[in-house]
Amino acid sequence: MADIIRLLPDHVANQIAAGEVVQRPSSVVKELLENAIDAGATEIKLIIKDGGKTLIQVVDNGKGMSGTDARLSFERHATSKIQKAEDLFNLNTKGFRGEALASIAAIAHVEMLTKTADDEIGTRIKIEGSKVVTQEVVVAPKGTSMLVKNLFFNIPARRNFLKSDQVEYRHITDEFHRISLAHPQVAFSFYNNGSDVFQLPNNDFRKRIVHIFGRKTDEKLVPVEEDTQVVKISGYIQKPEFAKKSRGEQFFFANNRFIKSPYLHHAILGAFEGLIRPGTHPGYFLNLEVDPGTIDINIHPTKTEVKFDDEHTLYAILKSAVKHSLGQFNVIPALDFEQDQNLETPYAYKGKQVGVPQVVVDASFNPFEVNKKPKGASSGNYTKPSAKGWENLYAGLEVEVDHPVKNNSTIEFESEVVNSSIFEADNEVADHATHTFQLRKKYIITTIKSGMVVINQSRAHQRVLYENFLKNITIKEAVSQQLLFPLTLSFTPSEIEILNEIKDNLCTVGFVFGEVLKEGVEIKGVPVLVAESEVQMIMEQLMSDFQQEVPGDSFSQSDMLAKTLAKTLSVKTGETLDEFSQQKLVNDLFACKETTLSPFNKKVYIMITENDIERKFI
Ligand code: ADP
Ligand code: MG
Repeated sequence: MADIIRLLPDHVANQIAAGEVVQRPSSVVKELLENAIDAGATEIKLIIKDGGKTLIQVVDNGKGMSGTDARLSFERHATSKIQKAEDLFNLNTKGFRGEALASIAAIAHVEMLTKTADDEIGTRIKIEGSKVVTQEVVVAPKGTSMLVKNLFFNIPARRNFLKSDQVEYRHITDEFHRISLAHPQVAFSFYNNGSDVFQLPNNDFRKRIVHIFGRKTDEKLVPVEEDTQVVKISGYIQKPEFAKKSRGEQFFFANNRFIKSPYLHHAILGAFEGLIRPGTHPGYFLNLEVDPGTIDINIHPTKTEVKFDDEHTLYAILKSAVKHSLGQFNVIPALDFEQDQNLETPYAYKGKQVGVPQVVVDASFNPFEVNKKPKGASSGNYTKPSAKGWENLYAGLEVEVDHPVKNNSTIEFESEVVNSSIFEADNEVADHATHTFQLRKKYIITTIKSGMVVINQSRAHQRVLYENFLKNITIKEAVSQQLLFPLTLSFTPSEIEILNEIKDNLCTVGFVFGEVLKEGVEIKGVPVLVAESEVQMIMEQLMSDFQQEVPGDSFSQSDMLAKTLAKTLSVKTGETLDEFSQQKLVNDLFACKETTLSPFNKKVYIMITENDIERKFI
């Protein structure tokens, strides 16, 4: 048989390597920003268009390259950063593989302009799909400008695989946050589609955090300092009361490089234990300085995991340092002797408003008038009725009494035609849903002709709310309640961006917005189902859900919004429902278009027929 093994041509090898290095526009941003930092730049400018798909440019004032270096930099495994294998164990630079530029040039149109301080003139190189188109000598300022256009122009499959511009933009913003936080001494600016997103002057770490996440962040930060032989820790944690629903603001940097470490994250969670509400996440910005020889970052070009030699010690030191800061800065109430413990409000009541007890009296009620029904009177609070016609006094109450379900809000009442595909034949549930029973504050049990139905209360309510919200969004006819005093909620600039994207849809469910500022938003009205005290929590949940991924088309955006609202506002397991609310929920559920599954595709109820029961008795 003839020999069949051949060496791949360079441009093919480069394209394959590019698949590893460049997954999406944000990978290019990361590589270019890191190169600029490695070149010793003190000012870096990032410009992108259309989520980086059409254009990414990074301009730095670093050391630049000579003509020969400029050409060589696009070769694979061409690097100025290491020379021998041992250098890998003493790395002080971000890059070292010499793969990034070769990879990027293989899958995009690239234009580099560069000049060193010593040279009089600079170099311009144009490369398209690994082929050098031009190389010329030009006048240029000191430093390097890298322009990357039409990413994946020659790999349509990869290009089609990219997400919407907003999603790609969000990934780029994340990358920008990480790198600019790791290098506060470098000034950064960031422009997206011609508008200026960030102007970060060179600064200390704290000011950099505040510049990125907004002025309000400043008061939330508590410093952490610890200097040991194994590690030097510096940075900030956020006070426990500012723990958020979203995981956004959690940053570890090891030797000025952003890293992810579930293990060390766990140490922080341990230090915060008991201080934050379940389901919320503490914010932190922590720098770990270790001997470069004790850390292995050589795992994968695009991965952010690293390996520390002595992880266990690091864990213990980190946890105790964070605990110490929480204690030292009086953030742990138990350590604050000046505070009256009796005045401490438990978390569950924080931010909740105290309601003025209300007595509703029917002013027009005349006990001597025969056959007049009292309206809106709550039992026990009006004058003694005359004996005659007393039965009528209660006539109106049945529908008017409030049935508390959760946190002062009620399940919405809406008399809809009850029909469900499953029960259509004999309308069993609807007709017989008069007797319900709540089991373990989790299930509602109701009988039907052929047996019984066990309904998961939380999932059922999610389904009801979900369809309700979705309907409101589609017909754009939600009822909203105006707030007497508009609420001002503060958000980070990137959260504001998300808010702007989903604002129209939020209005269709009943939110009314006032001014949207750079770091906050005014809320003037909320959907009727939402209590004022819940607004902050709901908005945080929305941000956190949408931060993961903003759906591109408006349908999936509405869908996600309805899901989040349903999830947040639904009755939960552990809540007691009175009989009226139980029946209302059952009726509402079986008036839904889909009754069997929750919006998150979970089973809403099960049926147990008489046969099933009888079989058990055999
Ligand atoms: P690596 O960063 O791993 O060395 P790259 O492909 O990113 O590999 O870059 C190759 C080389 O090009 C670098 O080692 C560096 O010498 C040079 N280089 C890249 N970008 C810049 C820049 N912005 N300024 C100066 N030199 C640069
Ligand atoms: Mg590099």
